[in-house]
Amino acid sequence: MSGAERYDRQQRIPGWDQARLACATVLVAGAGALGNEALKNLALLGVGQVLIVDLDRIEPSNLSRTLLFREADLGLPKAVVAARAVQQLNPAVQVTALVGDLRFVLGLGRLHACTLALGCLDNQGARAFLSRMCLLAGVPLLDGAMGALGGEVRAFLDAAGPCFACTLTLNEQSDLWLRYSCSSGFHVDDAADPAPTTITTTAVIGGLLAQEAARLLLGQPVENGSALVYNGQTGRLHRAGLRRDPACPNHHPLDWERVVPLFGPVEAVTAAALLAHVPHAPSDAPTLELGRDLLIGFVCPNCDQPEAVEQPQGLVAAATAVCPRCGALRHPQVVSTVTGIDPWTEWTLARLGMQPGDLITVRAHEQVWLFVASWKELP
Ligand SMILES: [Zn+2]
Ligand SMILES: [Zn+2]
Repeated sequence: MSGAERYDRQQRIPGWDQARLACATVLVAGAGALGNEALKNLALLGVGQVLIVDLDRIEPSNLSRTLLFREADLGLPKAVVAARAVQQLNPAVQVTALVGDLRFVLGLGRLHACTLALGCLDNQGARAFLSRMCLLAGVPLLDGAMGALGGEVRAFLDAAGPCFACTLTLNEQSDLWLRYSCSSGFHVDDAADPAPTTITTTAVIGGLLAQEAARLLLGQPVENGSALVYNGQTGRLHRAGLRRDPACPNHHPLDWERVVPLFGPVEAVTAAALLAHVPHAPSDAPTLELGRDLLIGFVCPNCDQPEAVEQPQGLVAAATAVCPRCGALRHPQVVSTVTGIDPWTEWTLARLGMQPGDLITVRAHEQVWLFVASWKELP
């Protein structure tokens, strides 16, 4: 079947340009109820490339609001099942599933390669992180949010307009800050209590989200810093303006002209090879910045027994620090930078916690080098 036949009805719309949709890459962050609706629409519209990131597995309570999931899929990763369903809905779509927390599996380089990001998330922490990443990556974000009887779609298109953090009250900002800083870098379970909702409201918000996405991809004007708010109780839809907070620290996009491809995959390049790669004076030893704290392991003050962990600290629960032998609180050994004299200088970047698509920073004196690690889209 030709694309012309499949897309005949939408191509009859004046100003429609199917080629613009076909060459777009859209990130869908979150493959829950809202993500299902957004993905269904993107697949049927004929968006060329879709990247899905989600850390959860399918539970029975999801099945009342998720078109792409079946009972037989219970327990499977949402991103993988959603990707398979998108492929079945429209085999022309190239779809990739990333299973994991977007803070750790979605590299900034990979995000930068996207045309647009859709936020289909259910917690403020992930929203704040995605919004910040989108500003750095220079990628417009449409953020969907659900309430019990309504929801909204907010357009955070560039650094000149407001971002998600700008829309938070001081209380909400300090609440987020407290949650993430009091855990001293360990994993925070930020799953909120499940909110009451239905498929009908989800379908409305997912439809509005995909509609705004299509308008943006087709080059039609979408108001930066606006919220399309649907009140399901009154059946009313209105557009509200959002204000940029002049004190918000997020509005500094990265200069991507300075970013060069890394000379090998993260699984092969060692920290030592990368540090040797950047030109520097003998007196200015370069430093590799990991971007995320790597928990090398724990040392117990009583037992003196080290335990290797080698995982990003943000993925490890704080309770893990308790010694299984004596119950004392063990000292975490955390690494955020690597120089030529560190014991882990011979480790590969992958072992140091770097992901395909990550942005990698090396600093020597006043100079900064930025590399992007290559990635391979899965079939
Ligand atoms: Zn902001
Ligand atoms: Zn111990």
